[in-house]
Amino acid sequence: MNRNRFFIGGSYSIAMENYPRMITPSTEPYDPIQLAELTQQIVCRPEDSARKYTNVYVAGVYGGIATAYAVGCPLRCIFCWVDDSREYPERRGRFYTPEALVGALEDAARERNIRKARISGAEPTLCKTHLLAVLPLIEDSFFETFMLETNGILFGTDPDYAVQVGQFEKVHIRLSLKAATPEGFQQRTGARGETVELPFQAIENLIQAKASFHVAAMTDPRLMPPTERAVLISRLEDFGVTLAGNLEEERCDPYKATIRRLKAAGIDVKTFF
Ligand code: SF4
Repeated sequence: MNRNRFFIGGSYSIAMENYPRMITPSTEPYDPIQLAELTQQIVCRPEDSARKYTNVYVAGVYGGIATAYAVGCPLRCIFCWVDDSREYPERRGRFYTPEALVGALEDAARERNIRKARISGAEPTLCKTHLLAVLPLIEDSFFETFMLETNGILFGTDPDYAVQVGQFEKVHIRLSLKAATPEGFQQRTGARGETVELPFQAIENLIQAKASFHVAAMTDPRLMPPTERAVLISRLEDFGVTLAGNLEEERCDPYKATIRRLKAAGIDVKTFF
């Protein structure tokens, strides 16, 4: 057997020996578009538009929301709280067709009399065909609102994707920025610094698409220096996103997965938390 190849869905796919797992100080910067493509081969199943999730349940945030926990991400943020399905998407989760996913969300929501749903976990936009089949089902369901939480990498590379998702009335996008400068992006996501522009391009694409969205950003001062936060705020103001208005600032909490990743990245977590 060729150990450089993954066995995916019954056929061998492309070489995966350099698939990024946990980021360490010696990890070479990766291209998030390439990582998205590699991860899509693991978590998206084109023949029936299925996608991998680890779980569907009701989360306590947003006053209670039916949540599908997506497997796979094109980034490797050192503060990420997602379980190890981020590093090992080939080992975790199971496939849900669009119908099965919306059915599972409805079942979870009915038990708690909830009318809100979301896809969260790692990166919900990774499987375009799947997501674009899920959203019309959501529009026809009893859900009143649907939250899509994304890092913006794919909306930044594919304006058509932003247009297609933006047309759904129940969908609200929460776009979470990780950094404002190439140095900060590379340091905290492990991705090549210049790709910091992709999430900003996503904002532009979502505005052009007239999509419903707001911006969140990991501005925790233990991770983002004040000078970079100032750059971020200034760049966002160009898009009409302001601190007083619609910018949601995120904090880094001591989840087990976060602690593991910060340690691997060489951060002293005893002084950090
Ligand atoms: S924090 Fe979000 S964008 Fe970053 S690695 Fe985790 S799931 Fe991906």
